[in-house]
Amino acid sequence: MKKATQKRLLPTSTAGSLPKPSWLAQSETLWSPWKLQGDELVDGKQDALSLSLQDQQLAGIDIVSDGEQTRQHFVTTFIEHLSGVDFEHKQTVKIRDRYDASVPTVVADVSLAKSVFAEDAKRLRQQTNQPIKWALPGPMTMVDTLFDAHYNSREKLAWEFANILNQEAKALEAAGVDIIQFDEPAFNVFFDDVNAWGIACLERAVEGLKCETAVHICYGYGIKANTDWKKTLGSEWRQYEDIFPKLQQSSIDIISLECHNSHVPIELLELIRGKKVMVGAIDVTRNNIESAEEVANTLRAALKYVDADKLYPCTNCGMAPLPRDVAKGKLNALSAGADIVRKELAKEKIAPTCEVQ
Ligand SMILES: [Zn+2]
Repeated sequence: MKKATQKRLLPTSTAGSLPKPSWLAQSETLWSPWKLQGDELVDGKQDALSLSLQDQQLAGIDIVSDGEQTRQHFVTTFIEHLSGVDFEHKQTVKIRDRYDASVPTVVADVSLAKSVFAEDAKRLRQQTNQPIKWALPGPMTMVDTLFDAHYNSREKLAWEFANILNQEAKALEAAGVDIIQFDEPAFNVFFDDVNAWGIACLERAVEGLKCETAVHICYGYGIKANTDWKKTLGSEWRQYEDIFPKLQQSSIDIISLECHNSHVPIELLELIRGKKVMVGAIDVTRNNIESAEEVANTLRAALKYVDADKLYPCTNCGMAPLPRDVAKGKLNALSAGADIVRKELAKEKIAPTCEVQ
């Protein structure tokens, strides 16, 4: 039996990244280079992690994270720590069939000598008693973010990454992390591979963990390549439909999804009935801050397909590229919206069906 990380109804969390302070990295810039170096950078990242935690706590977020303050990129920062990868000679590949990126090359067997994030996780654990969620890239998304000149098989490389991620996840669990999340935006693109080996690799990555596990599948940050891609998806985004049946059957505990302002038909959530669902109720592609009532509306819609005790209000994706005050406003809106629905659910519980007088 896995440890229940939350007793409060509708526990809020974020999908992952939060904006970095302007003294650490260029504001409102995704994958911005660091402004500090050496020991100053080490100190600066740690300070940013504490500030990010404080922002979440001030907003009343229930399941907190590091805000991904110590990483430049959600995939490559992890890959940088692996042996077998050449960072000097980058190759240009198309990420998720969508945009060109200069990426590292796999040149030999990949392996991980030492945990990438366990020290950061321990530092976060020391600063809070709240449940902690930690995000790692998923195996398929890792494969999609580099050039493979060694294995010559996406699937084979994904299995190698799954083994490495399992090693990292166990180190994070030992550091006191309550929920380990794997980011798999590639799941929204390569449906056949997801069903053939993507979900199986993810299950290998979580093998033997006692903490809870999540998979985050979104339509990406609000960068131009993503918004242009979304325009090609038509009025209904049914990508989740192809992968939900198998995910519902998988050993992953929580599924994190984009819902608010997206064109995902909300009834698709029925396909993962029984799973805990992190419902994206905050749009990360625009700067206007949702009202509490807008957040509540998204949560109410999801409640038709997700049992109340399995609904986790969340953001659609990471908020790294947003201005800090906007991200703080959105965290507050998420809390306030969840609070509205929590009160409604409490009322229903006190006064169930009283039609018969
Ligand atoms: Zn995302």
